[in-house]
Amino acid sequence: MSLPPLLNGTELYKTFRVSGQRRSSKLLTALDNVSLQLAAGETLGIAGESGCGKSTLAKVMAGLLTSDRGNVFYKGTQLSLLGQDDKTVFRRKTQMIFQDPFSSLNPRMRIGDSISEPLKIAGLSLPRQRTELERIMAAVGLHGDAVNRFPDEFSGGQRQRIGIARALAASPEILIADEPVSSLDISIQAQIINILLQMKLEFSLSMMIVSHNMLVLRHICDRIIIMYLGAIVECGPAATLFDRCRHPYTEALIAAIPGFHALSATKSELLHDDLPSALSIPPGCRFHPRCRHAVDRCSSEVPRMKEYANGHTAACHLSKQLYG
Ligand code: SF4
Repeated sequence: MSLPPLLNGTELYKTFRVSGQRRSSKLLTALDNVSLQLAAGETLGIAGESGCGKSTLAKVMAGLLTSDRGNVFYKGTQLSLLGQDDKTVFRRKTQMIFQDPFSSLNPRMRIGDSISEPLKIAGLSLPRQRTELERIMAAVGLHGDAVNRFPDEFSGGQRQRIGIARALAASPEILIADEPVSSLDISIQAQIINILLQMKLEFSLSMMIVSHNMLVLRHICDRIIIMYLGAIVECGPAATLFDRCRHPYTEALIAAIPGFHALSATKSELLHDDLPSALSIPPGCRFHPRCRHAVDRCSSEVPRMKEYANGHTAACHLSKQLYG
């Protein structure tokens, strides 16, 4: 009998009410029928432009936001049905890393105390806390003297190391990182990515990485999900997605990567106009107003998600004609 996925999101919908003119309000669709699984040991990437719903999806999967419809299952059990003890275990086992780790650190708390907090909560003795703290700090490349300093004494890259260390102190099995390197310099980005890869092996983690940086995801992930206006439009093994994408939106994202010449066309040749508002999702294929391949049926008929080799899926009426 095969094990259920570690995390499983089924038919997730999430909307937010936003205020409009003259005290009116509108519904913004952040997630629209999104289903995904994270297998044990897997690194899953979530890509797409800003506002496509990827951060909302990360928070829903981490249990920090509840979906309007659909469910998230942890090892086969629905999150909303977990008892109090199991909920506590889930929260500890699923840790999130944010783009700006500074916001999740108490500015008046010394770094050593911040990182040790989960160790204390787990009931470790003081000597064990100290040993674990040293081990985790060394693993993420933080010097021992950092323990007595405060968050504002660190650079962006060091703060991200602190964020990762704090997450690891909870002994997680799942790490969900929301744009973990996007605010960092390129050289620091590489260091943080390498730390995440090392931590995955050393701590046997499963990871979900949200990023608009396709190259980061290609480097770090086993599979990548492409989101557009709240929906998944393509999903596949990272290498396959880059070598043979099956959706015009993915093609445009890959074409937009600076210095990546796998595709001959540029982003502007492949992608018309700016991202439409999630307040009014286009009918039919939601990508049709920007798609250079759109035909009549694209504006009225929602494309079904079709499966190709190696678990590669894409939702485009013309995928076969365009990509073989
Ligand atoms: Fe473009 Fe039509 Fe495919 Fe949508 S369904 S991506 S509009 S070709």
